[in-house]
Amino acid sequence: MGYNRIAGHEDVIGLLRLAMNRQRLAHGYIFEGVPGCGKRLVARELAKALLCESGLDEGCGHCQSCLKFETQNHPDYLEIEPDGKSVKVEQIEALQSFVLIKPYSGARKVVVVDEAQTMTASAQNRLLKLIEEPPAYATLIFVTNQADALLPTILSRCQVVSFSRLNPPVIEAWLIEAHGVESGVARVASNFADGSIAKALMLATSEVFSQTRQDAFDILKALMKRDPLEGLFKLQKYSADKVLATSLIELMIIWYRDISALSVDPESAKIFSQDKRSDLIELLGKTQKSPWLDCLDILDQTARALNSNANTSLAMHAMALKIQEVMHDNSRRGPV
Ligand SMILES: [Zn+2]
Repeated sequence: MGYNRIAGHEDVIGLLRLAMNRQRLAHGYIFEGVPGCGKRLVARELAKALLCESGLDEGCGHCQSCLKFETQNHPDYLEIEPDGKSVKVEQIEALQSFVLIKPYSGARKVVVVDEAQTMTASAQNRLLKLIEEPPAYATLIFVTNQADALLPTILSRCQVVSFSRLNPPVIEAWLIEAHGVESGVARVASNFADGSIAKALMLATSEVFSQTRQDAFDILKALMKRDPLEGLFKLQKYSADKVLATSLIELMIIWYRDISALSVDPESAKIFSQDKRSDLIELLGKTQKSPWLDCLDILDQTARALNSNANTSLAMHAMALKIQEVMHDNSRRGPV
């Protein structure tokens, strides 16, 4: 197993393979990109490839070196992550001693520093000499979500490799294939994940997220009824916490978008919640009206209000009343 276990980032991986094939590798790399997008995984695969005995442009997965690497038992590989909140000068001193001793088993030594933006100023200063005159066998890879937190000297001596945000369809496919996530959940989670595969997985497997998604659906159903109290009652749990309330509103927006799309085309393939298509169509059958776009306007207004520091409880209350109004008041047209 080599790079094929990585979701997306074909551009970066192509570049690294090319450098490997042409033996044009840098001694220092800075892998930069949003948290959780897969930078560290690629760094580890590059390290494995550099140490591999096969001469391929990625780790072969079978040689002694790859086997040791896989079992986190490779004498020529070191991975450093923050000790508490930062990477400290003592850790960099240990890194230095590690690098300065010649490779134990192969031709190279590789170090990955994760969360490199947390290196303290003295830790970074301690690195400078090594970065300026690295031993020929050494490769250092700094993984960071904030390259500009590194000293200009470090930046200028390393090759910066930028990782783009992953597209939702890439994340969605990865959630389904690598983690067996159910397709509807995978689609919603991937669209919430902000390009981060780690966040998507966290959401897809989070109880809170799936409960909030279910609550958003139940609230939508309650607001379709004429009983104003039921919707408000279900909203109560979200009225005290702005972060939770904002997630709820975003998830409600997804439900209303789906129901709106299905009201136009019951076969629509574009809906997020493929897993709930029949539930949504059943709901559509219970109303003569099509106030979905008005509801979406109201939710957008509420999201903006929460974002600009409105009182959470009041904003949620007003949202529920307005949605009920457009659902049930035949004399009204459009949102309030
Ligand atoms: Zn190998």
